[in-house]
Formats: sequence, C-alpha cells, structure tokens
Amino acid sequence: MTKTSFAQQQGNTTSNINDLNNKQHVNHENPFQISNQALNYAASTHLHPIKLECEPTMKDQRTAAKFIQQFFKYIEKDFYQQNITQQKPIGFEQWWIDKEGNIQGITKVIDLYVFLCNPQRYPKEINNFKITPHPPKHLPPQRSVILKWIKNSISCNELKEELEIKFKSIYSIRDIIGTINTRNRHVRIDFQDETEYNTILNSGYVPIYGQLIECDEFLPAPKLLICSKCNTPGHAKKACQISQIDLCRRCGKDRNDKENHSSCEIKCHHCGGAHTSTDYSCPFIQKYRRELVLELRNRPDLLPAEAQLFLPTECRENGKEQKY
Ligand SMILES: [Zn+2]
Ligand SMILES: [Zn+2]
Ligand SMILES: [Zn+2]
Repeated sequence: MTKTSFAQQQGNTTSNINDLNNKQHVNHENPFQISNQALNYAASTHLHPIKLECEPTMKDQRTAAKFIQQFFKYIEKDFYQQNITQQKPIGFEQWWIDKEGNIQGITKVIDLYVFLCNPQRYPKEINNFKITPHPPKHLPPQRSVILKWIKNSISCNELKEELEIKFKSIYSIRDIIGTINTRNRHVRIDFQDETEYNTILNSGYVPIYGQLIECDEFLPAPKLLICSKCNTPGHAKKACQISQIDLCRRCGKDRNDKENHSSCEIKCHHCGGAHTSTDYSCPFIQKYRRELVLELRNRPDLLPAEAQLFLPTECRENGKEQKY
C-alpha cells in the first residue's frame, strides 16, 4: 500500500511516543529542541485560498455571509455525489472580502479543495452576484505525482496525450523547475481523482512511448518555522531567546547597524557557507528539518485524521524504496 494515513502508519510504533505534555522535548542525540510550536506549524496544512471574483463587488459582511451560504448549498449535492465517503458538512474554515471586493476562503479539507479546483463546478451566479472562479494552479501534494527523468524531447503536451489514454482526471502537468538539465527533467502531475492517483503510485512506473518512466509521490519539504530575528528554525521572533538584535541573513551582523545589508557579504552565520542563513541548502537547516520530521513521525496526534505526512527522501527511514 502506497498511502496510509499517518495515524495508521504509526499504529505499531506507539511505544515510541513520548509523553510530551506541552514540554519541550530534548533528544539527547541531537542539539535541537523541537518545540511544540514548530511541530504544530509543520503539521498544519497550508493550502492556497480559493478566490471567487464577484460582479458587482462585495461590500458588506452580511451580504457576503449569505452569498457563501448559498454557494455551498449550490455545490453540496454535486460534492457529496463525488465524495461518497464524506459526511461532514462543508464550508470555509475562514473567509474574507479581499481588497478588490472578491470573496476568498480557506478550506483544509483536501476533497473540498480538489473539488473546487474545477471551475465548472462553480455556480455562474449567486444572489445576483456573477461569479468568476479562480481555482488554484496546483492540487495539494496529496494528489501530486512526480514522473522522473523525462527526456526533454518529450513535451508536457505529448506526455499528457500519452497519459490520458489511461488516466482521465489529470488536472495539470508541469516541469519541476530546478530539475531540468540538458537531457531530461522531472515533471509534476496532479490528479483530481484519488483512485487514479493511487493507481499510478502503486504501479510505480508508467509507460510513455514504450519506455517505463518511474513515478513517485511529490514531496514538498515540511514547513519550517524560522525566527526572523536570529534566522534559526524552531521558534517565532516573539519567543526568541537566542539574539537580542536582528541578525542579517546575508552577513550575520546586526541588521540595523546602518550598514547596507542588501549588498553585504553572503556568509551563513550558522555554518560559514556561501548562502544566506535561512537557505534550505544550509546543513544546519537541513539537520533541523530531519529532526523535525523524525519528531513529527512520533506525534500523529498533531496531524488531522485524514492527513498524510510527506517525508523528504533524505528523511525516509530505510532510504528511497520505502513508501509512507
Ligand atoms: Zn530567534
Ligand atoms: Zn548583512
Ligand atoms: Zn549555512
């Protein structure tokens, strides 16, 4: 099985779970203390808001509230038909009227988010407001797959044609910037349908023009809480006990010392390397991230029931082959 809920995953390792009781957990094998604040931050879902452009523009909260109520009434039937296992009521966890007078809302429910990624599912008009949907460009990582080492001679469109013979719910196909070299690159594919997502992941390979292409989960790094005062991960600025002054991310000196800190030398104050001190390539930040992931694996209670934890390859226990 490729995909298991994090809580299930951890079922057999409950003996590892420490009774933290909101204390900081000190792991004696590493110099980091992973605070609950950092864990909560990393465990929470970070999905983009869904935007509903309104014509005429939305002016007051009460009209907006009625609008949103009607909006969910409209999509409800369709939604439950498509997500038979969903029984909870649907709605935004948070919404607001943005500066342009449009509605923006946040949901952490992956099924609802995926549903709203398709503009055809939106009503054209609610309570005399015309709606132009702005669905997100990507589905959440929980529906994203990486195809690896695709030859540059095969375009994303050709890839799409090949894949659509077998898969009907492809939402988007994009090159992953940063993986492109002279011969090949990785490509990210988002699926609207969870079954198709599982099918492709479970098979592990997919044939493209007769060649088997390796596929894997798309794994974004867990979000790191990094202090903007001392540039160290694990706490927010308000809770900083490391530095009295704001440290420059480039040179590591006092950011307010009247020097020009947009052109100072880039020398990481954690490790001395030629990168800024909040860069993910810094060995210090990477080490922290590894500890954070290890700690998160022991804290399934922090993750919502339906959450899956995405582990960077380097953080997987038994190397690359193991799936979570
Ligand atoms: Zn700090
Ligand atoms: Zn500086
Ligand atoms: Zn560094």
